[in-house]
Amino acid sequence: MQRVDTVIIGAGHAGLATSRLLTDAGRDHVVLDRGRLAESWRSARWDSLRLLTPNWMSRLPGWSHQGPDAEGFMTVPELVGYLESYAQSFDPPVRQRTSVLAVRPVDGGYQVTTTTDDAWSARNVVVAAGPRPRVPALATRLHPDVWQIHTNRYRNPAALPDGGVLVVGASASGVQIASELRQAGRDVVLAVGAHTRLPRRYRGMDIMWWLEQIGALDRTIDDAGDARRARREPSAQLVGGLGRPDLNLGRLRELGVVVTGRLDDLDGHRARFRDDLPLTTTAADARLRRTLRTIDQYIATSGLEGEVLPPADVPAVLMSGAPESLDLRAAGISTVVWATGSHYRYPWLRVPVADVYGEIKQYRGVTPAPGLYVIGLRFMHRRNSQFIDGARHDAQTIVEHLAGADRSGPTSARVLLARDG
Ligand SMILES: Cc1cc2nc3c(=O)[nH]c(=O)nc-3n(C[C@H](O)[C@H](O)[C@H](O)COP(=O)(O)OP(=O)(O)OC[C@H]3O[C@@H](n4cnc5c(N)ncnc54)[C@H](O)[C@@H]3O)c2cc1C
Repeated sequence: MQRVDTVIIGAGHAGLATSRLLTDAGRDHVVLDRGRLAESWRSARWDSLRLLTPNWMSRLPGWSHQGPDAEGFMTVPELVGYLESYAQSFDPPVRQRTSVLAVRPVDGGYQVTTTTDDAWSARNVVVAAGPRPRVPALATRLHPDVWQIHTNRYRNPAALPDGGVLVVGASASGVQIASELRQAGRDVVLAVGAHTRLPRRYRGMDIMWWLEQIGALDRTIDDAGDARRARREPSAQLVGGLGRPDLNLGRLRELGVVVTGRLDDLDGHRARFRDDLPLTTTAADARLRRTLRTIDQYIATSGLEGEVLPPADVPAVLMSGAPESLDLRAAGISTVVWATGSHYRYPWLRVPVADVYGEIKQYRGVTPAPGLYVIGLRFMHRRNSQFIDGARHDAQTIVEHLAGADRSGPTSARVLLARDG
């Protein structure tokens, strides 16, 4: 058994950000990863993916994008290189290919057992293990001769069996994959639930820049009202790349994708969809207009009118007339791609900190179990907590708390944790 002050589980950007701040604070720690550094980006992303956040929006503690292409969008290998360079800059104590099998509370600390011979005894554990794919329960009712795959295993059109594809989910991943498959000549049906639409650029600037300016990304969960609902808000239909047309449901229909409502039921080869496209597209359009109005107001009140382009029309994408039922076999659909997002489940965490939904109870990364922290969750505290750019704020809070500067936690942390039960 080896002793260490803090074990960080996961060497993605969130684990590395935490490691950097612990290194700066002179705190003894180790980072364990079941794979290589940035493993999720190496093995759970598709080939053509580019970040949908611009390069400048990849700020980590003590590290940021340098070079001329601040407005560009990294490919996956570029991001892996970016995180590798980050690690080289402070040489974190990473143990690669070390899977954590269990974290158990022992004598005021934790025992961390792994797939290697090492077991660790630590006063603190920071869970930075990333999201896991979420697939709806009805997937089990799909006929076994239809291939199914979550987006985290999807690579490119050629790697799928011949035939048509049903893509379920129309957030960033779903619309990008549906578009790529259609452009590779596949018949594609896209099942659309609640979604968020944004233009890539507005009034001459990238939408992410505007979201930062109006404070949308800094909003905290304290202001969100219904925290659970806020955390389930779908990611925006955006694609990283300069000069490309916006990728939205209208564009996909133009490309020949059959756009339908939310997948409601599966029974062998029979898929049923809700008649909710008019509702969900109208709601997405209304949210988009509210965001653009807020940007316009910000421009007016901050004296930017002369600096940016005048307001431009962003056409509505309102839809109806979608099939409510589909015989997958008759339609030649050989594959279902689940673009249904992810959640945070850690079966190896044997510490009773899960809420009624199975997710770790936390406030600003501090859990009710002393010395146990979590980072990288969606809207964990700020709207951008799960983005690369957001991790620095949460890592800072965690490391300050862990280092004893605020060991008892912010007053509101205790109040919120108590409120959540
Ligand atoms: C398709 C897609 C596109 C995205 N695009 C963007 C974008 O454009 N901009 C942006 O800012 N964010 C983007 N994100 C979001 C975000 O950056 C990722 O979700 C990010 O990978 C999460 O970072 P993380 O460090 O929390 O976890 P991860 O990167 O998933 O890292 C977790 C690490 O933990 C390890 N691990 C897990 N379990 C164990 C275990 N039991 N033992 C040991 N190690 C373990 C894994 O191997 C992994 O290396 C995107 C996410 C996805 C899925």
